[in-house]
This record gives sequence, C-alpha cells and structure tokens, in this order.
Amino acid sequence: MSVTPQQDVPFPHWEAELDSPSLQGNMATDISRDRPSKDAVQRLMKTFLKENSSYDVLPVSYRLIVLDTKLLVKKALAVMMQNGVVSAPLWDAEAHHFAGMLTVSDFINLIQYYYTHSSVESALQDIDTFQIQHMRMVEKTIGAPPRQLLSIHPMSTLYDACKLLVESRSHRIPLIDRDSATGQELIASVLTQHRILRFIAMNFKHTRCLVQPLSELRIGIYENLATAKLSTPVIQVINMFVERKISSVPIVDDRGAVLNVYETVDVMSIARSQKYHELDIPVGQALQARPADYPGVHTCTLNDTLASIFAIIRKRKVYRLIVIDGDNKLKGIVSLSDILR
Ligand code: AMP
Repeated sequence: MSVTPQQDVPFPHWEAELDSPSLQGNMATDISRDRPSKDAVQRLMKTFLKENSSYDVLPVSYRLIVLDTKLLVKKALAVMMQNGVVSAPLWDAEAHHFAGMLTVSDFINLIQYYYTHSSVESALQDIDTFQIQHMRMVEKTIGAPPRQLLSIHPMSTLYDACKLLVESRSHRIPLIDRDSATGQELIASVLTQHRILRFIAMNFKHTRCLVQPLSELRIGIYENLATAKLSTPVIQVINMFVERKISSVPIVDDRGAVLNVYETVDVMSIARSQKYHELDIPVGQALQARPADYPGVHTCTLNDTLASIFAIIRKRKVYRLIVIDGDNKLKGIVSLSDILR
C-alpha cells in the first residue's frame, strides 16, 4: 500500500482521523479537547502498523550487501566498512539458503575470543584464513549464543515485524521471500529499527499528538546505567556490551556530565585495524580512532516528547538519545528499542 508522507498540518490534526471508518467506535470518548488520550494514540498507531507492510518501508531503490559464508572475515569486514554498513545477511551457497546476519556482535565475539583465548601472534595469523562460517566455533568457545536465524516475509505487516524485533531484542530483521518457480529463498532486504521509526516519523499523521514529555512517559532507562570514564579500558566497555546486552555506554566525567558515548559500532574500527592487543587502552584514546564522518552524540532532556524525538529521527540517523539535565549530567538513555517497544 502507498502512504502519503506527513504534511505540515497544524496540531491538532488527529480530529480529522475520527472520520476514518476503521477508527470509529468509542474513539471520540477517548479524546479530550486538547490532546488525544494515550489509548487513542496507541490504537491509531496499531492500525497504522497493521495497514502497512514491511515492504512499504523499503526505499524505491536500494543496495543490499549479501555475504557468502565462505568469505574471509577480514574481507567481509573490509566490504562492510567500504559500503558503510554495520551488518549484512549471509548466504550459504552450498545449501542455497539464508544463513543469518553478520553483525557487530560477531566482531565483539571475535575480539573477546582473541583477548581471552589466543595470543596476538596467532590471532593475526588466524585472521588471514578465518571464514565467516568459522564464527560458530568462536561463539562456542566463548560461550556466546548461536547466531539467530530470525526472518520475516516482506509482505508481513509492519506490526508483526515490530513485534518480532521487540520480542527478539533485535535491531534488524531480514526480509526473506521465496522464488515461486524454484522455491529457493531470496533475501529481499533488511528492516532496521531506524528504518521503521523513520517511516513512522514520516507517515504516521499523529506523531504530533505524542505530546507527553519523557518525564511522564518514562520510556528508556533511568537507573542502573552502565557508564564508563575516559580512563576505563576498552575491553571493560566491550564486556559491558556483552554482559548487559546493550549497544552503547555513555562516557562521563567525575561529576556525571556526559563527555561522549562508546558504541558497539566503534568495535568495528578495532576489528578492522586488527588492534586486538590494544584492548587495554583507555576508551578515551580508542575514541580518537573514530571515522571523521561520525555523526556525533544526540542528547535530549526529560522535557522532550515523543513528537520531538520523532522529528529528530525524521532528519538524522540516530540510534539513541542520551537524556541529560541542564548541567549536561546523565539522566538516562532512550534507545530506538525503547521507542519501538
Ligand atoms: P539498545 O542495545 O540500545 O537497543 O538498548 C537495549 C536496552 O538496554 C534498552 O532498553 C536501553 O534503554 C537499555 N540500555 C541501553 N544502553 C544502556 C546502558 N548504557 N546502561 C543500561 N541500559 C542501557
């Protein structure tokens, strides 16, 4: 189905939606004069997600990098970096089927494996011959769970895709179709949290109604945050990613003010430069190896609303917002996972 991009309609625009037959019923009683109730907006959102398919989210033209499981990890990494992607679907050419996703988690596994189980010399020798399909051995050795084989059909509803992403705590999900003549699997694309939320931000007409501030909504995390100092060794931050199943760690000073954020994607630079023996360096030093096009840290305050967050998602490639107070002190984190949930 096609969706008309959101126009700049004056708030409150939701009143017009009451005319929509699929949204009638007791909606009107839920909506106060000034703003729709949370239940009403939730129902509008659910209807929107059920009326759109995963396919609708895909751009008209796009590039998809698919990697053969026999490819050397070193080459895979180079291809990913050259193409500016941090994950890629895998194809088993012998069995002719989709074989999961290669993501930054695999590179974290590799780093942990070399740090704990191998000498630097043998690591550097291994990496020249190591194929993607050997990653299972790495997972087993370090006790990591095996790669997930989650996928969804491109014509599945966006609602089902979001549900699967939330339930599996995944950041992306491959869209797999079947060739009608041969029955063989076809990798159509990969749906990411960011693509879905951007689609919602562009097309859901009611994002402006999401006017409750974060202080009331409390989406995200505000307690027991994993943080580091500039002097914390990189390996400790990497261990936090794995133990807490998180994709970023804010770097704070002694007052708790946010200085930076170390992200799982930063690990790609370590893997690329093969600096497995430099994992004890302070995270502040590791951050200097960031590519020049790093988009920066995005912050917000507890006064921000989902409407203002969606406005940022519309314009920028953000993966999370760091919640700060007026003194730049860390208050919390709102990840795309939290918004999707
Ligand atoms: P993410 O990996 O960014 O999708 O986050 C997964 C979940 O962990 C979300 O509920 C986040 O709010 C939470 N989270 C993200 N970063 C941190 C952190 N540094 N400390 C504690 N929880 C976090």
